[in-house]
Amino acid sequence: MVPGYRVTMHLEARILLCERCGAPLPVTNQGGATPCGYCGAVSVIGPSPFGPRLLPPLQAFALTDAQRAALQAQLASTDTNLTSLNCVPDGLGDLDGLDMSEAARERLHRAFLKALRACRRGDRAADQHRLYWVALRLANLHFFQNQHERAAPYLQQASETLLDPRFRRMLLLELVGVARRQGQPAQAEGWLAQIDEFPGDILLYSNHRDTRASFELDRGNPQGALALVGMTIGALPTADEYVPSSCLKRARALHRLGSPQLAEAALLAGVRWLQRFNETTNGGASQLSPEQLRTCERNAIFWFTNQCAPEAGEQGSELASLWGRIEPGLVGSAAHR
Ligand SMILES: [Zn+2]
Repeated sequence: MVPGYRVTMHLEARILLCERCGAPLPVTNQGGATPCGYCGAVSVIGPSPFGPRLLPPLQAFALTDAQRAALQAQLASTDTNLTSLNCVPDGLGDLDGLDMSEAARERLHRAFLKALRACRRGDRAADQHRLYWVALRLANLHFFQNQHERAAPYLQQASETLLDPRFRRMLLLELVGVARRQGQPAQAEGWLAQIDEFPGDILLYSNHRDTRASFELDRGNPQGALALVGMTIGALPTADEYVPSSCLKRARALHRLGSPQLAEAALLAGVRWLQRFNETTNGGASQLSPEQLRTCERNAIFWFTNQCAPEAGEQGSELASLWGRIEPGLVGSAAHR
């Protein structure tokens, strides 16, 4: 155990949703009959399923050969991963996409309440998936609008309601992110400590490792963060969704450990990986015109530029000057790779 880990759970912020009107409903950890401050309806809430737990040590993330092989097999598989935001539940296609308007938020809110009521009536897998997906979309929307406190009640309500542990754990990781961005490290640790099983689903495993790496960076443990993301892309099985972000964490950890050259190499490797990923998702480099290839490269650079920017908050400003030095040399250099 690294000294300084707290073992208490900070659940002073248990906020669910009113069963009738959907307003945020502050609830005690014990639960009970709770009147809504908006519509007056009384919701009868059970005790919180979450409580004080020990944060698992970083060694818990180590893989046996069999676990590694199982995760690698998932990476190679073309099966649909239900935990992915890309796996849109039937009937919710109109809620997919990047619409960040207030109207889209309202539609998602209504879809959330509908799915919540369906989950309370029974435990159909389709309803569970709907509730999970809408909660994740709402978290996404509020993340982009910097309204983290609005995402928390949906995430808490869904993580208390959902039975599938993969869904529940993915949403708990979102709650870790919400607490981190709100500057509440103890709360972030409390949510993180709820997940004590490893590894299982490749998306969940990748997200868990990535989130824990952010947490370790926050608490001044770059060595621990580096162990979690590995020294190179592919050192550990990682879902595509988390490869660029793991490159950022690797760069940040290396920078803090006093190796700016290695940090720069980690960033460059991330840009090139994302560029090739963009090419592949568009049919492969040989299928694309020179202009399309440049677009794939520009989009990859754009993503890293945003993530390294000082106002990105989560990634911090320490990479901004490093990125400012290497970014001008990037465009067009793909032709020589
Ligand atoms: Zn109400």
